[in-house]
Amino acid sequence: MSTLCEIRNLSVTYRGQTLPALDHIDLDITTGERLAIIGESGSGKSTLARAVAGLLPPGAKLAGEMRWSSGGSPLPGRDLGFVFQDPSSSLNPVLTIGEQVAEGVRRHLRLSWREAYAHALKMLERVRLSQPDKAMRAFPHQLSGGQRQRVAIAAALAAKPGILIADEATSALDMVVQAEIVSLLDELVREASMTLIFITHDIGLASGFANRVAIFKDGRLVEAGPTGLVLSSPREAYTRTLIASHRDLTTPPLIREAAP
Ligand code: ADP
Ligand code: MG
Repeated sequence: MSTLCEIRNLSVTYRGQTLPALDHIDLDITTGERLAIIGESGSGKSTLARAVAGLLPPGAKLAGEMRWSSGGSPLPGRDLGFVFQDPSSSLNPVLTIGEQVAEGVRRHLRLSWREAYAHALKMLERVRLSQPDKAMRAFPHQLSGGQRQRVAIAAALAAKPGILIADEATSALDMVVQAEIVSLLDELVREASMTLIFITHDIGLASGFANRVAIFKDGRLVEAGPTGLVLSSPREAYTRTLIASHRDLTTPPLIREAAP
């Protein structure tokens, strides 16, 4: 497996802050992996996602390096898709679903409006949105939270990016819908051999399908490694606490699967 991005000594400090949100992070992202970034609220997960996507707010100070195997940073929307916790922050309330998915497609794939519409409809079918024809003409508020998140995934994947970052993409959804969206993401990412960076505060959710986990606390990387290994033999006390606090994790799912 080849390295997609080497993150070295990365620190990020937001404007007006004295403490860094990310503190000297070293992490490799491997092409095609499903990497889970796990940590409590405020541990720096979204900051890492924004730094990787080149989407830090103005005034944020970045030190260290991100070396991309391609030579340059990925272009958000085209090379890298982003799905957020709250799809209302990525969906425009005054545009129909069709208009906004098609707009992204048109811009990044240089298609005509007509072609972009057809492609957008295909994407809505791929994320298994119910009644995709009707949804094309609907506004975001007319859909349920789970359906809106399917639209956000369709929009993020429309330009066929090689990398998908899902930042707490299922955290606002109820358990059943959450499981559906996770399994949809898993399927789409496998199909397209995409690299997935799955950000969550829920170690149980991550353990189900991530190849590798990276545990964050207070802007620092506590430890990283293959999911089964970190969950069965965590090196750091903090990781043990996280695992212990998740009652379903006494037998990590991946290890259970691997058992004869
Ligand atoms: P997480 O996603 O793990 O909850 P964040 O990356 O959002 O963590 O935040 C890490 C730290 O940076 C927190 O202390 C948070 O308050 C701070 N922070 C996040 N965004 C900003 C911002 N735009 N300006 C100032 N501080 C911020
Ligand atoms: Mg966050």
